[in-house]
Amino acid sequence: MTIPAPKTFQIKSFGCQMNVYDGERMAELLEGEGMAAAAQPGAADLVVLNTCHIREKAAEKVYSEIGRLKRADGSRPMVAVAGCVAQAEGAEIPRRAPSVDIVVGPQAYHRLPALVADAARGRRGIDTDMPILSKFGALPARRRQGPSAFLTVQEGCDKFCTYCVVPYTRGAEVSRPWDAILDEAKALVEAGAKEVTLLGQNVNAWAEQGRGLDALIRALAELPGLARIRYTTSHPNDMTEGLIRAHAEVDRLMPYLHLPVQSGSDRVLKAMNRSHSTAGYLRILDRVRAARPDVAISGDFIVGFPGETDAEFEETLKIVEAVNYAQAYSFKYSPRPGTPAAGMDGQVPEQVKDERLQRLQALINEQQLAFNRATVGKHTSVLLERAGKKPGQLVGKSPWLQSVHLETSASLGDVVDVQIVSAGPNSLGGAALVRAAA
Ligand code: SAM
Ligand code: SF4
Repeated sequence: MTIPAPKTFQIKSFGCQMNVYDGERMAELLEGEGMAAAAQPGAADLVVLNTCHIREKAAEKVYSEIGRLKRADGSRPMVAVAGCVAQAEGAEIPRRAPSVDIVVGPQAYHRLPALVADAARGRRGIDTDMPILSKFGALPARRRQGPSAFLTVQEGCDKFCTYCVVPYTRGAEVSRPWDAILDEAKALVEAGAKEVTLLGQNVNAWAEQGRGLDALIRALAELPGLARIRYTTSHPNDMTEGLIRAHAEVDRLMPYLHLPVQSGSDRVLKAMNRSHSTAGYLRILDRVRAARPDVAISGDFIVGFPGETDAEFEETLKIVEAVNYAQAYSFKYSPRPGTPAAGMDGQVPEQVKDERLQRLQALINEQQLAFNRATVGKHTSVLLERAGKKPGQLVGKSPWLQSVHLETSASLGDVVDVQIVSAGPNSLGGAALVRAAA
C-alpha cells in the first residue's frame, strides 16, 4: 500500500528522558520539513513510536502498539519505529509487522525526513547506523521549549553492566562538543527555558580535552537567564572531586543527585560488573553530603538479579536504610537478549522477584514520604512549569525535584518563593510568598 506524504505527525516516546529529548528533536526535524503535530493523536498521518528496550517484553509491546494503529476504516498512518527496539530488532520489525514503513535507530534519526520521503514513494527504509556525532550536527537549532528543558550532552556507554542493553543499542560512550552544548543551551534559554537538565546514560563521564562535567556546569551557570541546572544519570565511578565541589560552589546547580547503586550486595555488584562496592558508594555520598548538606539523593535498584539470595536482597534493604533516599526507582531484573546475565545460572523465580520488589518499594515510599514531610514549613524556590487542575493553580518543582502545587498570580517560567504547607507521597502543597526575580 502506498501512503501519501504525511502532513501531520504524532511521536509517542517510551522509556527514559533521553528518549523524551530525542522525541522533541524528531518533532523539530519534522516541523522543519513543513509538517505539523496532529491536533488529535488518532488523526496523525505519520506515527513515530520512539521505543525503549531496557526491560520487560519491550518488543512485544511495540508490536501490539503497531497493531492498534489501524483505523476503523481499514486505513493506517505511515508508521516509523524509532529508539532502542528499532536498533535491537532492525529488519526483524517489518518482517513481523509488514505495516511498518520506517525503522530508525537512536543514532540515525536525523535521517527521518529522508526516510519519510522514501516511504511516501513506496520504499521502506531501515537505518540503524551509529554515527552519533553526525546526528547532532545534522539536527536543526532548538526551538520549542517550556520552562524546563532536557539537553543530551553524552550518549552511549562503555561500562557493560551484565544486565544492560544500553551499550548495544546506544553504542559507545561519546561526549558532545563543549561549543555545541553551550550553543544549544543558549538557544533553549532564548526560547524560554529557565532550567536545563543535562542528560546522558553516564552523564558524569562527559569529558572534552581534560575538562569534565563540572567545568561544563560552571560555564552554563554563567548564562544569563538560566536559573537552574540539573544532570542525570550518573555512575558512581565517574563522580569526580570537581563535580562534588561544584555542588558546594555553584548556586544554580540544584541540590539533587541521581546516583544508582543497583544492589546492596558486593557479590551481586561484582556479578553485575558494576565496578564499585557498596562501601565506595556510601563514601561518595558522604562527600556529596559534606559538600551540600541539603542534597536529595535518588537511585536505581534491581531486585532478583540471577543468583541473588534472600540474604543478599536483605543487604539491599540495608543500604537503602543507610542512605535514606529522597526518591528511588526499583525494578525486577529482566533478562535482556544478548546480555551476559540473561544466560547466567540461578535465574530468580518471578514470584520471588515480585515479593522483593514490594518490600523494597514499601521502604523507598516510606523514605520518600518522610523526605517530603520534612520540607513542610520550609521556605524555598519553585520553578513554575505547568497549570494545575484547579483554577488559579500552578505546578512547579522545588530544588529537590518535588512537584509543588500552589495558587499564584505568577506566570509559568517564574521562579517564586514559596512556603511548603503540606506533603503527600508524590507532591507538596505550597503558599506563594513574595515574587522573586526569575
Ligand atoms: N547508566 C545508568 C546507571 O548506570 O545507573 C542507568 C541507565 S539504565 C537506562 C536505567 C536503569 O534501568 C538502571 O539503572 C537499572 O536500574 C535499570 N535496568 C537496566 N537494565 C535492566 C534490566 N535488564 N532489568 C531491570 N532493570 C534494568
Ligand atoms: Fe547500562 Fe551499566 Fe551503562 Fe548504566 S552503566 S547504561 S546500567 S551498562
